[in-house]
Amino acid sequence: MATIGVVGAGIAGLVCAQALQQYGHQVVVYEKSRGVGGRMATRRLASTCADHGVRYLEPEGEALRYLLGVLHDHHVVRAWRGAIAQMLSDGSCHFLAPSRRYIAREGVNAVAKWLAVGLDIRRQHRVTAIAPVAKQGWQITFEDEQPDTWADALVLAIPAPQAVDLLTPLTPLGLPLPVLDAVRAVEFSPCISAIATYSHEQGEFLDYSQAWHGIQFDTHPDLAWISFETSKRPSLIPDKATPPVFVFQSTAAFADQYQNAQDLQPAGMILVQQAAQALYDWLDQPVDLYVHRWRYAFAQRPYPGPYIATQTPLPLLCSGDWCGGQQVGGAIASGLQAATYFQQKLGDTPAALSFHELVQALCDRSSAESA
Ligand SMILES: Cc1cc2nc3c(=O)[nH]c(=O)nc-3n(C[C@H](O)[C@H](O)[C@H](O)COP(=O)(O)OP(=O)(O)OC[C@H]3O[C@@H](n4cnc5c(N)ncnc54)[C@H](O)[C@@H]3O)c2cc1C
Repeated sequence: MATIGVVGAGIAGLVCAQALQQYGHQVVVYEKSRGVGGRMATRRLASTCADHGVRYLEPEGEALRYLLGVLHDHHVVRAWRGAIAQMLSDGSCHFLAPSRRYIAREGVNAVAKWLAVGLDIRRQHRVTAIAPVAKQGWQITFEDEQPDTWADALVLAIPAPQAVDLLTPLTPLGLPLPVLDAVRAVEFSPCISAIATYSHEQGEFLDYSQAWHGIQFDTHPDLAWISFETSKRPSLIPDKATPPVFVFQSTAAFADQYQNAQDLQPAGMILVQQAAQALYDWLDQPVDLYVHRWRYAFAQRPYPGPYIATQTPLPLLCSGDWCGGQQVGGAIASGLQAATYFQQKLGDTPAALSFHELVQALCDRSSAESA
């Protein structure tokens, strides 16, 4: 049994940690935020919530397809029959063919919370440095003067540019340069998400039965996506209708202009104004506007393999959506294959856990807990 530190409680880190724990290792997950899920993010609002990272889940890839089937049976996710339109440069819209899409009534972050159950997760622990120490293993250092800790092996389940910050000081300490170069070669594009809530009176202008539920903009300079979040969860409070909530997501070019902005409200206002021009003029008068910047939103030119691994100076592995894929399906596949690799290198039992077996073990665990 090895002590393994997993940096990052996004979907890749959670899947990897669960699999390693199933193999019998002692696993601790370090997460800089207060919650789990990373970009699979949901913001709580007064009477509802909104997904400001992952928009919805599609059963792409065998592992994600299987997970969604199980989560559907456990009522964590449900099918979303939202009509998704594509807006063209001339302002015309056409609806995309219906396909299987899933959302969670409690917000897409519910999927991450389900995957996190039973793990030792140290939240608000931002890892600022890792260093190999002879005979002791990896020394892990955190910000805010939290005491250092140790691990035999490390998984960096964080976006590539954030992994570069931790890996760069390791090259004089034995980290092979090709490992650093492979991580450095992956680029991420940013995105700004604005959650806007409106009054019931403003919502009266919406024809709920006919309305689109999501719009994908292919050529707009600023807007990439709008979702009518209310269509995902008409009301979380019984007998109380939810006022309209929209999420506006920007293009990478728009977000680039705000990389160093302290105040993101002006960026959010521009997005709602653009939406008002394209759709309904009252959209530029939200009751509340919450703006979030994703510095590392989408992996561009991902690494071709499911993980990047090295045994020198000590066992270390990078995982995430940027290894082999680009989205949630890729993150899950990467997390699982990363765990398999470590089990082959460090474990005393063969690495034979399939994703189906892992998810089944998690289901048994949740049934045991709710019994
Ligand atoms: C706006 C937006 C919309 C998207 N829409 C979709 C969609 O519709 N469908 C889809 O499949 N995918 C979508 N994606 C992509 C999807 O969110 C990602 O592919 C997936 O969530 C990546 O998971 P991950 O675990 O690899 O990384 P992350 O989710 O980024 O997790 C990394 C975690 O590491 C933590 N961390 C980072 N550095 C440190 C550190 N030094 N110390 C401790 N913790 C650290 C972070 O806080 C984070 O929790 C979207 C992404 C964005 C931003």
